[in-house]
Amino acid sequence: MAAPLTNWPPELPQAQLSALTLLATTYALSHGLVYLPVAQEQPPAPTSVIHAPLALFPSPIPRRLFELAKRLQRIYNVLYARVAMDADFLDQVMGEEQGVGKVDEFTGQLWRRWRQLRDEGVAQPLQLGLFRSDYLLHAPSNGEPVSLKQVEFNTISSSFGALSERSADLHKYLYRSTGYYDTSPYLKEDNLPPNRTIAGLAEGLAEAHKAYNAPNTRILIVVQNGERNVFDQRWLEYELLEKHSVKVVRQTFDELATSARVDPSTRVLTLALAPGLILPDGAARVEISVVYFRAGYTPVDYPTPAHYDTRALLERSRAIQCPSIPLQLAGGKKVQEVLTRPGVLERFLGDAADADRALLRASWMRMWGLDADADGGVAAARAQAHGLVLKPQREGGGNNVYKEAIPPFLDALPPTERAAWIAMELIVPPEGLGNYLVRAGGGTDGAVKADVVSELGIFGWALFGGQDSEVREKEIGWLVRTKGKDSNEGGVAAGFSVLDSIVLV
Ligand code: ADP
Ligand code: MG
Ligand code: MG
Repeated sequence: MAAPLTNWPPELPQAQLSALTLLATTYALSHGLVYLPVAQEQPPAPTSVIHAPLALFPSPIPRRLFELAKRLQRIYNVLYARVAMDADFLDQVMGEEQGVGKVDEFTGQLWRRWRQLRDEGVAQPLQLGLFRSDYLLHAPSNGEPVSLKQVEFNTISSSFGALSERSADLHKYLYRSTGYYDTSPYLKEDNLPPNRTIAGLAEGLAEAHKAYNAPNTRILIVVQNGERNVFDQRWLEYELLEKHSVKVVRQTFDELATSARVDPSTRVLTLALAPGLILPDGAARVEISVVYFRAGYTPVDYPTPAHYDTRALLERSRAIQCPSIPLQLAGGKKVQEVLTRPGVLERFLGDAADADRALLRASWMRMWGLDADADGGVAAARAQAHGLVLKPQREGGGNNVYKEAIPPFLDALPPTERAAWIAMELIVPPEGLGNYLVRAGGGTDGAVKADVVSELGIFGWALFGGQDSEVREKEIGWLVRTKGKDSNEGGVAAGFSVLDSIVLV
């Protein structure tokens, strides 16, 4: 293993650490690497921000594994597009009759709406995915070389694309302005890879907008009430407007419940704009080309059945969904597990090179369903609990059950609910890595040194579903989130980790 993977970051005297922290937080605030502050209630027009939690040094990733992750993304883009287009498969795995939807209320609600939409006839065959595939470095103590293992594949609300670009730029700025005090031969410009995720994500949205092909339309971003990570979304809006001349409108499910209308004959989706946003020609409604969900990935976003109906209304239209309900279902942890079973990858990527399928397989940890008979299901999960994580069909962090918490959890889990959970072997990240973590409110002496684990995410987009069955796709950038070694979970929004970037080693 390369030296810096075991001895990182360089040791800095307090004075240099304080200087770096001042430069970092000032840069973050100047460049929109920011969040809304925690407040009981956000004012409608914000008056202040805090910098996002950040790492002072980039984290080491072997160059060959970074290149591998980018290569894998192109294959995953196609794989998940094809899963989303395979209704039989999704019915079987996620449906209410045979699959997870039978026992998981959230999955069932989404699947039922989708089935009804299929019965009515889907108005828009095209779908857009803005994906993020997440990985940890795997360095088991058995002497195997360090490898790349997939944590999960996100098909909805894949966030931190914009802020990860800013944090990569932050580290480049710290390097250029201080040389990182010449503390490591690895800290040089060639080892800090570019990250242009904002342009990439906006390009995906703009391509879908173009494919919709109608004048005077806008992209709708469906947002959560009280979202604090709004700047990560706003950067995409500015890019769409400045580079693609595409306007955006943001609304919550609650607003959409009264503003959204789908014309029954043309299936055109229009929204009533807020009073202040009435168009110059006096039109109070605007047609939507693409619906981009930064909400709707968690049951919390659907407090009533009417909220699911609003989701279904949007999908009943000819607006291109990002993601569609089937693409959201394709991102379920259950699908990730089923893909590892014999023959399933061939179903979707039978035309791919053997080498490509082998690369995907090599990126997987062992997984099984808690309801499985053949692989031991619950019994195997009990026996191997110390090396496992259990996952339900949820997104956004904080839902998993780890190690010693597994046996008591299994004691309490009704057997009927086992089908909603998968067991996954724990990835073993390299030891000996640290970083200086800076959270808002810490002051210039507030950088905290910690032993850390870094999670690499690769972004991609895919536009698919047209008659030619072609999947247009691209790998577009990356994210590194770094967390304290002793935290099981890793979400930035959930407060577990900080934004980071890469130094190639
Ligand atoms: P979510 O969709 O809620 O983000 P994840 O599958 O990404 O769910 O799990 C949340 C976090 O748990 C990850 O960011 C990672 O830190 C940790 N984690 C998940 N799976 C594993 C695994 N197999 N090995 C080690 N850590 C894991
Ligand atoms: Mg995750
Ligand atoms: Mg996820």
